[in-house]
Amino acid sequence: MLHFVYSIINFLILAAILVLFGRKAVLAIFRGRRERIGRALDEAEEAQRTTAELPVIPEAFSDVVPEAAVQEAGAIRESARQTAEALRKSTEETVRGLRREMLADERARLIDKIVARAAELTASEPYRSAIRAKEETFADEIIRRMEITPGDVAYLRHHDQLYVTLTSAHPLPQSIVDRIGARAEEMLEEIGGKPSYWVKEDPELIGGLRFRVGDTVYDFTVADRLYQLRRDLEKRELRGDEDADAVIRDLYEGIASMDAGISEFQLGRVLSVSDGICWMDGLADIMYGEVVEFECGERGMVLDIEADRIGCVIYGRYERVESGTKVRRVGRIASVPVGEDLLGRVVDPLGHALDGRGRIFERERRPIECPAPSIPDRAAVSRPLHTGIRAIDALVPIGKGQRELIIGDRQTGKSSIAIDAIINQRGTGTVCIYVAIGQKDSTVMEIRDRLTKVGAMDYTTIVCAPASSSASFQYIAPFAGAAMAEYFMYKGQDALIVYDDLSKHAVAYRELSLLLGRPSGREAYPGDVFYLHARLLERAAQLSPENGGGSVTALPIIETQAGDISAYIPTNVISLTDGQIFLESDLFTEGQRPAVNVGLSVSRVGSAAQTRLMKQVSARLRMDLAQYRELAGFTQFGSDVDAATRKVLASGRRMMAALRQRRFDPLPDWKQVLLIFAVSEGLSEGVGEEDMEDWGRALAERLEAKHPEECALLLAGGKLTPEETDALRDALKDCLADPAGETEAA
Ligand code: ATP
Ligand code: MG
Repeated sequence: MLHFVYSIINFLILAAILVLFGRKAVLAIFRGRRERIGRALDEAEEAQRTTAELPVIPEAFSDVVPEAAVQEAGAIRESARQTAEALRKSTEETVRGLRREMLADERARLIDKIVARAAELTASEPYRSAIRAKEETFADEIIRRMEITPGDVAYLRHHDQLYVTLTSAHPLPQSIVDRIGARAEEMLEEIGGKPSYWVKEDPELIGGLRFRVGDTVYDFTVADRLYQLRRDLEKRELRGDEDADAVIRDLYEGIASMDAGISEFQLGRVLSVSDGICWMDGLADIMYGEVVEFECGERGMVLDIEADRIGCVIYGRYERVESGTKVRRVGRIASVPVGEDLLGRVVDPLGHALDGRGRIFERERRPIECPAPSIPDRAAVSRPLHTGIRAIDALVPIGKGQRELIIGDRQTGKSSIAIDAIINQRGTGTVCIYVAIGQKDSTVMEIRDRLTKVGAMDYTTIVCAPASSSASFQYIAPFAGAAMAEYFMYKGQDALIVYDDLSKHAVAYRELSLLLGRPSGREAYPGDVFYLHARLLERAAQLSPENGGGSVTALPIIETQAGDISAYIPTNVISLTDGQIFLESDLFTEGQRPAVNVGLSVSRVGSAAQTRLMKQVSARLRMDLAQYRELAGFTQFGSDVDAATRKVLASGRRMMAALRQRRFDPLPDWKQVLLIFAVSEGLSEGVGEEDMEDWGRALAERLEAKHPEECALLLAGGKLTPEETDALRDALKDCLADPAGETEAA
């Protein structure tokens, strides 16, 4: 086991530096910002105090003050209390976020100092000599580890020489140079190649040796150790409630536990960069989807591997990457941070915060591309995922683990349906991920504000790759979202993921593919665009109980042009999902919102998750609607229809009206059943189309107050016997006969 003297020396020195610099710096920032934090807390307290001081109307006045006023005062008080509580919570959160941000900044500066100081010390005596004395040992280790990779063998097939380079900070004794050279020659001879051996000096390495065979680098230098040290220290967790001492102690631990091993990695070269795409050579053993790091610190992901070059997309600012510079293989597949910390946040596809609420400190990562669960690991869809929208829960029900496409022209209420579904998950324990691809920033912010307002942001993450971001960001966004959702699925929880929308995703992928020089196919999309969406949507699943029973439900959205669902991307996604909700512009403009086309929308598996009661009432609704549509088609042009037909038409129109629903106002399952039942039974005669929704809500409230046993029947969700049907009908008639329920109160 090779033991590095200097890593121990480093530890001792660095520990001393930490105490010297760290304490002072961190304490200083606390003093400066304490005031700001204090102010925010005061505000929250003030708000709570004001609420406490709100007058309570004494009982004795109840004769004088009308009861409604007493109730109203109570409601105001309650809402003020809630607001104050929310304010306090959010202030606390913000303070913690701020603190964490400050600590992280300060720690980063501290790490800079540590690394700079360590570099200075190791370059001077006595450490310099101590490290130089180890050069022989390093050489032994290089000789022991040196090997020929498959990439080198492939290279030698087309070239007769392989480049071998030995670099050191100081001139090396000839014996070391010769020993290493001889071993390299011997090794290459075995496979019929010859080395082209170079010996270089580079003072920036500070100390130690770096040896390179082909693409592979064996790094024994101080410079590399410091690079690793910095990366390890920056990755350490920060919660935000630590004090200065704890931060320093943690850095200590980081240095103490630093592994003294050597780095072995592959190095390549940038050939050209343009439009966010980079071509490289070298890196012979690299894999599809792997992460590479450029000299400037930017990162990219490999998307194309050709015989003599590798294509990758650059995540960040590609202007900073120059041709001819080095690129290093990081040794992992592209991944994103996942976990509970992301809930309530708006992030970019790499998991960086976009909402100005402070950095997100990752605890766990998942690869963005991950094989979908296999068939034996899955279970059939059996649990409902209520959207709270009548037209969907009754006619195209969605089950957990299902993939249901929302498809329609622009501005037909596609996003609204998905947002409603997210809002309706409140209190169900289902986590939601909303992936916005190619949308305007303002639209995404509106959605965030709406979700925050109704308290849905607590369990939701928004992954945002706006229209202004690069095609590579838009391309990986849904995969990143899927990884975040999978985290919860494999933990046994339920997740809902919305891809808004995959048409724009396909366009982004087309852009990337054309830039990578792949041939274009139908509608100029690359041939593998089907596979792209297939491997994304296959990741939605209901896991079997042995695998934890978690689920991911996917709601992809597709925008059509002039209702053309037979275009390339729509047909692809239709065939990849378990059904579609088809929204129609004509219905939308007629005022039938949500504009679900009941005839063309289907759900292939979701009905297995409906309650028997919902199945019973929706089966009848579906038949009645079909009859209505047929008649409505016939009678469109003639006004002369007999009384019986007129009656069917009128009742059909009422049913359509019963499927209208406001946005952001989801309805519990039993209330949906109640309204559909009442309309099917013809109880809604005389109710205007516009008033149907409020009528239904009022009816439900009255039933709850006056006939709790019938209400319980609806809540139980079992199939109704003929007697129960009669009882429910009578109860509803009773509620309607006595609208305000005033008789009993009086
Ligand atoms: P885009 O193609 O721009 O993404 P979209 O199909 O996602 O649009 P939404 O943004 O959901 O459509 O809705 C468009 C508009 O339709 C909204 O501004 C909203 O006012 C209206 N709308 C949607 N659903 C309803 C509804 N149920 N009731 C009333 N209005 C609605
Ligand atoms: Mg939309």
